[in-house]
Amino acid sequence: MSSLFGFIGLGIIGLPMAERLLEKGLPLVVWNRSAGKAKTLAARGAEIAAGPRELAARCDVVITMVTDGPALENVTCRAGGINAGLRPGGVHCDMSTIDPDTTRRIAAQHAARGTRFVHAPVLGSKRAAASGTLLIFAGGPSEAREKCAPAFAALGQQTWTWEEPEKATCTKLACNLLLAGMMEQFSESLVFAKKAGVDPATLLEIIYCSALSAPMYQTKGEAMVRGSFVPNFYLRNMLKDLNLVAQAAAQLGVNLPGSLAVREAYSSAARAGLGELDYSAVVQWLDQKST
Ligand code: NAP
Repeated sequence: MSSLFGFIGLGIIGLPMAERLLEKGLPLVVWNRSAGKAKTLAARGAEIAAGPRELAARCDVVITMVTDGPALENVTCRAGGINAGLRPGGVHCDMSTIDPDTTRRIAAQHAARGTRFVHAPVLGSKRAAASGTLLIFAGGPSEAREKCAPAFAALGQQTWTWEEPEKATCTKLACNLLLAGMMEQFSESLVFAKKAGVDPATLLEIIYCSALSAPMYQTKGEAMVRGSFVPNFYLRNMLKDLNLVAQAAAQLGVNLPGSLAVREAYSSAARAGLGELDYSAVVQWLDQKST
């Protein structure tokens, strides 16, 4: 008999992930804090649960895709949370970007209850979620990862695995550390060219046909030059990830001087009210800050 999957967290990336699972024929029970988002999935065959505990009680594998560690603890550990409903042997697979301490804490709570935790954060956009081409970093006991395999196959083009969940957590943080820096430096380059009177479109053209190019620049460049920052990944969430990196790096004794400057740029942009825009809006803050 095939496993019943649950999905909690229908935000920018969670919604297309849940839609993709339904499209691939996985039976799905869904819940979202703001109920309206879950209703849109009922028409596509999803069942809607009254809350995380009820959802977990019905499912073999519960996937969560929420903002951060506190949101994950809210849907997992509170009285009406996943932990109160998941049966022994059940698997909780969190795909959010969180910190390694939260990963370890939630994994230990599950182990003590006879349930299992897999941390499987993803790299890729809502478009990659919709087309099943996310990159998945899955950490946890192999038999638990095995139960998640149908979901990973539907959502991802490749899955890297570890026994220790926090290695998956830190792999994702390492990727976003690079992504944040690439975007901030790309933005500085565009603003510098513009202030020097060079058309940023010309600079983009040069970058795209040079060894400096990266698919991310090609996806974001034109919209940034136009000043369009419709969120695919909130700037506030990029700042959240840089804060998680800083915290984990301090614990590991790793020195990341460049990332502190990058974090300050995103932090200032968020303070200037740009947090609900796409993270590429860091260019807008740099532009406004330059005279
Ligand atoms: P988002 O649009 O802000 O969605 C966040 C989701 O978490 C929403 O469903 C929200 O519910 C829920 N949530 C937040 N706080 C909660 C709480 N206290 N209790 C219960 N539910 C709560 O963010 P997103 O872009 O989808 O990102 C989700 C996660 O994936 C984040 O960890 C992010 O870093 C990571 N990620 C995102 C992308 C991307 O391209 N967007 C790519 C890779 C990884 P409501 O609808 O009620 O607000």
